[in-house]
Amino acid sequence: MNFVADLHTHTVVSNHAFNTITEMARAAAQKGFWAMAVTDHGPAMPDSPHRWYFYNLGTLPEKMEGVWVLKGVEANIVDASGALDLTERDFGLFHFDWVIASLHSDVVRPTLTEDECTRLWLKVSANPHVDMIGHSETAAFRYDYDAVAKEFAARGKVVEFNANSCVARPGGEKNLFELALACKRAGARIAVNSDAHSIYHLGVFDSVLPVLKQVGYPRELIINADKRTLIEELRRHGKAIAAKMEEEL
Ligand SMILES: [Zn+2]
Ligand SMILES: [Zn+2]
Repeated sequence: MNFVADLHTHTVVSNHAFNTITEMARAAAQKGFWAMAVTDHGPAMPDSPHRWYFYNLGTLPEKMEGVWVLKGVEANIVDASGALDLTERDFGLFHFDWVIASLHSDVVRPTLTEDECTRLWLKVSANPHVDMIGHSETAAFRYDYDAVAKEFAARGKVVEFNANSCVARPGGEKNLFELALACKRAGARIAVNSDAHSIYHLGVFDSVLPVLKQVGYPRELIINADKRTLIEELRRHGKAIAAKMEEEL
């Protein structure tokens, strides 16, 4: 399976990553990608950049090193209510091309019950700023996949299959399979991403591809498998960059 974009990557402004945005874009170009999203951690993570970094992202060109670089964020869910660490004011000051909402155990202690996690994701799915649900298969935060996948599908949230989870969040492999089945049953659109913290892992999706193959995930529901599918998804989320990307086809 070919992919045209990697929609979850980190740069050196998240202190535990190793390459600059320019280096990541150049690596994406060299690996044959058409687009990528740079999605550094929102302010609740200990190593996140200052809010000003996000406001200033818009000063960078839309295309860097020959690749469309979506200016994004991996926002943190901060409590059981599903609230994010970016405010309405933040979203007003900078219109992100790509917003991931993720649960990290450094921000929310993994003591929530399955019902609490289910309610949390239902709340997140109602947040109009959120484009994609980050690595939600993690073993520490199990939820009702069928109930929530239906909402993700209905509200147009892209569900991520994160190739870095097997390293960063081991133990979720069975969940990943069950989540893929639930998403397929619900007809949810998904993305396959590296969550790379260096050029070496950018675009490396190997760990999740067997799961999607086993489940027989429909290719037309994988938003980063095709340029037109990606553009349509960005348009559905109201992203101005979609029109410019389409001009290039
Ligand atoms: Zn994450
Ligand atoms: Zn990440």
